[in-house]
Amino acid sequence: MSDSQLSPQFADRVERVEPSATIAVSNLASELKSQGKDVVDLSVGEPDFPTPENVVEAGKDALDAGHTTYTPSSGIPALREAIASKLRDDGIDADPGELIVTPGGKQALFETVQALIDDGDEVVLLDPAWVSYEAMVRIAGGDLTRVDTTPHDFQLEPALDALGEAVSDATQMLVVNSPSNPTGAVYSDAAMAGVRDLAVEHDITVVSDEIYGRVTYGTEQASLASFDGMSDRTVTINGFSKAYSMTGWRLGYLHAPEGVVDQAGKIHSHSVSCATNFVQHAGVEALQNTDAEVERMRDSFRERRDILVDILADVGVDVSLPDGAFYLMLPVDNDDQAWCEAALEESYVATVPGSAFNAPGYARISYAASEERLREAVDRLVSDGFL
Ligand code: PMP
Ligand code: GLU
Repeated sequence: MSDSQLSPQFADRVERVEPSATIAVSNLASELKSQGKDVVDLSVGEPDFPTPENVVEAGKDALDAGHTTYTPSSGIPALREAIASKLRDDGIDADPGELIVTPGGKQALFETVQALIDDGDEVVLLDPAWVSYEAMVRIAGGDLTRVDTTPHDFQLEPALDALGEAVSDATQMLVVNSPSNPTGAVYSDAAMAGVRDLAVEHDITVVSDEIYGRVTYGTEQASLASFDGMSDRTVTINGFSKAYSMTGWRLGYLHAPEGVVDQAGKIHSHSVSCATNFVQHAGVEALQNTDAEVERMRDSFRERRDILVDILADVGVDVSLPDGAFYLMLPVDNDDQAWCEAALEESYVATVPGSAFNAPGYARISYAASEERLREAVDRLVSDGFL
């Protein structure tokens, strides 16, 4: 074999990014577990409940019924109709033709960014921002402008002035994720209206990632596409991983104006072809018959949030109270990367460094874990001197 075969010249687009930090920590935690270490894994954002039984049954029935072929590229009609109906419940004037069903919300985001962002296009992110937004934009060649909500308790409304200064007619895309990963913040209606005003004024496409939309504690999250003037400039992203505890099924979707769907559909048809057939049938069941189960899981996340915030307060650590999702930002040393590595290596507690979300000085905790494991994590961190 020649040297050139051993060291290929990789494409710039992959040289520009690192592997996903959330997935990397989770892989490391799994490796330690496989070596027999008792790791408390608060890294990856994954509900610790089984997928609701009726959804599993629907998946099995679909397999038995032979739903194992390709489907129409943008999804089976029954699922697109069920999604459109859910979006209409959220106040979005949705039509099944404006949807692409994808293997996970991540793929929906990827296709959206690929369809809209060229070399040098400006994309605005609200920090702290989920790790994959930056990577997706960089892969597409876009430039990032970042607006930090950290000084405002992770809320968007008090950061609207800064957002107004950051955007301009040159801005192509703004990504809004509420409830937010990694902060758990739920943006107010006034904040969303402020986003609308800026998007309309500067003709910006807004990507609204609503994957945690059903995981809120008291404050309902308004869908951006339901705001006046937003239906023809919003790409709504969602998925089944979080609300229905279906991470491994890989199912999500994007809803967008027809033109965006046509262009993103090209990326979709040339990459994944379609989402998995029998999984889409299970998705119909998830949308139509799981309300009680979704509520039960949400109540449980809320209970764990309250327990964790109390335990942390007991050891003298104050945190911003998240109103949604199942994440919490823990203030740690400035070198959050080193803190997280040491906490994993010495205490076997896995968290994700805030730097991965452009929030140095924090570690993200995913509290989708039992009360016992949450207590164990804090006990270890305190006794090993991390807190
Ligand atoms: N958006 C956000 C904010 C997320 O945290 C995730 C995490 N998985 C996704 C999108 C993608 O999720 P999935 O591909 O599992 O639907
Ligand atoms: N979104 C989850 C997280 O932030 C799952 C991993 C990933 O897709 O990044 O942990």
